[in-house]
Amino acid sequence: MTPGQAHDRAAALRGLLARYDHAYHVLDNPTVPDAEYDRLFLELRQIETDFPEVRTADSPTQRVGGAPRSELRAVRHDVPMLSIYTETDKSEQGARAFDARVRKALGLSSEDAPVEYAVELKFDGLAIGLRYENGVLVRAATRGDGETGEDVTHNVRTIRQIPLRLSGAAPALIEVRGEIYMRRDDFEKLNQAQREAGAKSFVNPRNTAAGAVRQLDPAIAARRPLSFFAYGLGARAGWSVPTSHSTMLDAFAAFGFPVCAHRRVVNGPDGLIAFHAEIEAMRNSLPYDIDGVVYKVNSLALQEQLGFVSREPRWAVAHKYPAQEEITRLTGIEVQVGRTGAITPVARLEPVFVGGVTVTNATLHNQGEIDRKDVRIGDWVIVRRAGDVIPEVVGPVLERRSEELARFDLLASFPTCPVCGSHVVRVEGEAVARCTGGLFCPAQRKQALLHFAGRRALDIEGLGDKVVDQLVDNAIVKTPADLYKLGVLALANLERMGEKSASKLLAAIAASRETTLARFIYALGIRNVGETTAKDLARSFGSLDPIVRADREALMRVPDVGPVVADSIVQFFAEPHNVEVIEQLRAAGVHWPEGPPQSPPSGPLAGKVVVLTGTLPTLGRDEAKAMIEGAGGKVAGSVSKRTNFVVAGAEAGSKLEKAKQLGLNILDEAGLKALLEGAGADTDEQTLSGHDQ
Ligand code: NAD
Repeated sequence: MTPGQAHDRAAALRGLLARYDHAYHVLDNPTVPDAEYDRLFLELRQIETDFPEVRTADSPTQRVGGAPRSELRAVRHDVPMLSIYTETDKSEQGARAFDARVRKALGLSSEDAPVEYAVELKFDGLAIGLRYENGVLVRAATRGDGETGEDVTHNVRTIRQIPLRLSGAAPALIEVRGEIYMRRDDFEKLNQAQREAGAKSFVNPRNTAAGAVRQLDPAIAARRPLSFFAYGLGARAGWSVPTSHSTMLDAFAAFGFPVCAHRRVVNGPDGLIAFHAEIEAMRNSLPYDIDGVVYKVNSLALQEQLGFVSREPRWAVAHKYPAQEEITRLTGIEVQVGRTGAITPVARLEPVFVGGVTVTNATLHNQGEIDRKDVRIGDWVIVRRAGDVIPEVVGPVLERRSEELARFDLLASFPTCPVCGSHVVRVEGEAVARCTGGLFCPAQRKQALLHFAGRRALDIEGLGDKVVDQLVDNAIVKTPADLYKLGVLALANLERMGEKSASKLLAAIAASRETTLARFIYALGIRNVGETTAKDLARSFGSLDPIVRADREALMRVPDVGPVVADSIVQFFAEPHNVEVIEQLRAAGVHWPEGPPQSPPSGPLAGKVVVLTGTLPTLGRDEAKAMIEGAGGKVAGSVSKRTNFVVAGAEAGSKLEKAKQLGLNILDEAGLKALLEGAGADTDEQTLSGHDQ
């Protein structure tokens, strides 16, 4: 590189990094992964080392973070909040180089004792300074550009892990510094909820935490689950500061701050290397993201002696691990079919090393997510793989999209299931597309069989997980109809199944041939058709064939069947594969009594929804249910506004609580019996008024 080229490249890198810094530090909305930023940053640092004359005062290598957001009150730090030098060499040589620099700066020779280091994790969150006056939290400030941060006290007060008042004897003034972060499981839960609500999902825990802390409205921050670890000291007065970093952290813990347990005091470079390796091995199982470990000279006196360079202390270094977010090319989108028929789009990627492994595909969740993120085949995308979570495409790098790319449409690309060829549909209001071949699709076989054999379906005792796994994995059974072809020999050869249990299971299968229409419909596992709907359908139609032929309108005439349920039923029977299996089941002798259609039940509980909870003194659960249904009522599994009565017995739990909250009618067994005899049928007038909302 010539000085001229160095000058031009440095200028280009400064411009690029300034743009990325703004997006990351000010907007909490990075446009490229950290790994990409770090590569460019290190390239600039190297050029500036080789050609010191190209360095400018405003270079990102000379400054910390970004300017504070103007809507938040500015806070001038009494003690600047700096960055940490990142060791570029990720091997153990990185740790040795740091130790060598420290020894040199302290003027130690090879005869002198090893330096003592406090080692800890480098949490991937955002730095915060917490100022306590006489033990009371008075201010919380972000790092900002290191000199001036933002006042975010209103939000930080909502973080339960941060004490509002210190325990024990408090100094007149102390500013405890640390990292606010979001746990991975909290982040996943938050994103799951966002996806279900059809809202845009968050990119990663770090930016979600930073965004929450820098909100103007503390109510928003309060709804984001944030955590905290203390690791440093800012301004102080009236405190006899401990002599080492490690004992200072002990003191923080005594004040009531969370201090991470993965920390240690070690001697010399070997101790650093061992810690680096140990934490790398457990990185995936930690409940939060880290991007490396931090080594700090333990003695605070030596720290003072070592002092600072422009933006970093000389006594600390960050030794990083492979990035958990990387950039790569999206070459195609395929789909996976889940146990319940859910079709998940999967990104095919140019192989990329991320989170410690080479990743070639990552989940895109569903069509809505693809649309909201605007990910297109051919894009450069950010891939995230953190912990044991499945790799996912976080979003496209829009500034690298140079040509017009087509939007991806899952249903157009995959009109039929790649596993079984049944048609794929997406019910209005649902995020996921599904394969409709529930009874037939190999991907859904195990689920379908277990459901079919369930106690409330065809009730085949002895056909549990283990047996179904073996029957399917050995290709003995493909559809529920195959169950009726099984012989003792095939069963007796299964693991942990003797001849005796095989005959028992066969008897149970044989007995299941005689069933009811409602059970049979429920057993088919039609999406959105539970036991109650199955009963309603059986009663309203009387026999199976008219249900198979029914259109949406006819189905919606059945009480409580709305458009979503009706569509699910129509789609299920529109799939010839399913109808074929039903024919095979009939041919195998599965039968039920049929009769004329019946009008909705009458009786004192007609149209009423009852929830049972706890143990009743004399009535069993099934007995009570049968009595309620006999009186025209319905039994639901959970309490909602649509519930008319809650019958509570001994040890009733959360359902009773919820019923009380909603102000529902709560009865005991005697009350239920009175109701069944028609005595109290009017008592729910008040609750009826609110029940259609
Ligand atoms: P840094 O984040 O690498 O290191 C300093 C920070 O480490 C401190 O402010 C503190 O918040 C944190 N930290 C975590 N654990 C700590 C511990 N135990 N002790 C002390 N500090 C600890 O450096 P930086 O200059 O603050 O920011 C650079 C980071 O931001 C890089 O990771 C970079 O990739 C990322 N970044 C990314 C983009 C992007 O566009 N993706 C843009 C700018 C910056």
